[in-house]
Amino acid sequence: MNIIVLIKQVPDTTDVKLDPKTGSLIREGVESIINPDDRHALEAAISLKKAEGGKVTVLSMGPPQTIDALSEAIGMGANEAILLSDSAFAGADTWSTSFTLGKSIEKIGGYDLIFCGRQAIDGDTAQIGPQVADYLHVPQVTYVFEIEKIQKKNIIVKKRLEDGYERVQCNLPALLTVIGELNVPRYPMVGRLIDACKEKSPIKIWNASDIGVQAKDVGLEGSFTQVIKTFAPKFKRQGEMLEGDAKKIAGTLVEKLKENKLI
Ligand SMILES: Cc1cc2nc3c(=O)[nH]c(=O)nc-3n(C[C@H](O)[C@H](O)[C@H](O)COP(=O)(O)OP(=O)(O)OC[C@H]3O[C@@H](n4cnc5c(N)ncnc54)[C@H](O)[C@@H]3O)c2cc1C
Repeated sequence: MNIIVLIKQVPDTTDVKLDPKTGSLIREGVESIINPDDRHALEAAISLKKAEGGKVTVLSMGPPQTIDALSEAIGMGANEAILLSDSAFAGADTWSTSFTLGKSIEKIGGYDLIFCGRQAIDGDTAQIGPQVADYLHVPQVTYVFEIEKIQKKNIIVKKRLEDGYERVQCNLPALLTVIGELNVPRYPMVGRLIDACKEKSPIKIWNASDIGVQAKDVGLEGSFTQVIKTFAPKFKRQGEMLEGDAKKIAGTLVEKLKENKLI
């Protein structure tokens, strides 16, 4: 079973702050992590590989520091990792990101399953998985929370719905996007983390020419959407915490509500 896992390195916060002048993300002082849903995708792939044999290849498009996320994935048990890093990839919208990932998956080839997280906690679109599946013309199942059975030519999974679940049988190769309910991700092993940093590292770096694309087709140039303005909404309301003995502060609360003509 050859499995490809798509992971994204994201800031370790959902409280994303924007530079008011440039409209870009403030990344300074914010640690980067593997996107939480992607850790569950990795766990699923590594467990399947252990049960069925084969290998796990991890793929990520990002700046050079994404190597840390890929090293962690190797530490968890992935066999090899590929970092797509090239200034030509910068400024990609979701279509351009999916196209670049799709081209790289075509180059890797020979896969049975592709795992993605459902959604990245920074970009938050949940578009990449479905778009990559569409590009590759493979079936997709989103919101997977249980892998029930895997056979040579198909897989049976359960996908979460708002008010229940669906049990889906899907031909292989296929792409699954997974949610946190699926499993508990393992911790990386120190020995494997060291392997990731050795001279003969299992992490490769590919640029635009490695995947046979031209700069005009990827990154900002290859994007169909343009961000006109990015801004953080201004909150005018201010909260106030009342602390102390509940009986005493209940009176203060009533006074404050009266003052503000709320009661
Ligand atoms: C016009 C425009 C310009 C942009 N410019 C920039 C920019 O300059 N720099 C920047 O960082 N972002 C930029 N973005 C955001 C960038 O396009 C998205 O972060 C990216 O396409 C992924 O979308 P998402 O975060 O919503 O992922 P989702 O679709 O929510 O992610 C779902 C899953 O897809 C996989 N996935 C997502 N992204 C990647 C990835 N890069 N590599 C591997 N797997 C992945 C993961 O498994 C993830 O869990 C720009 C967006 C637009 C619209």
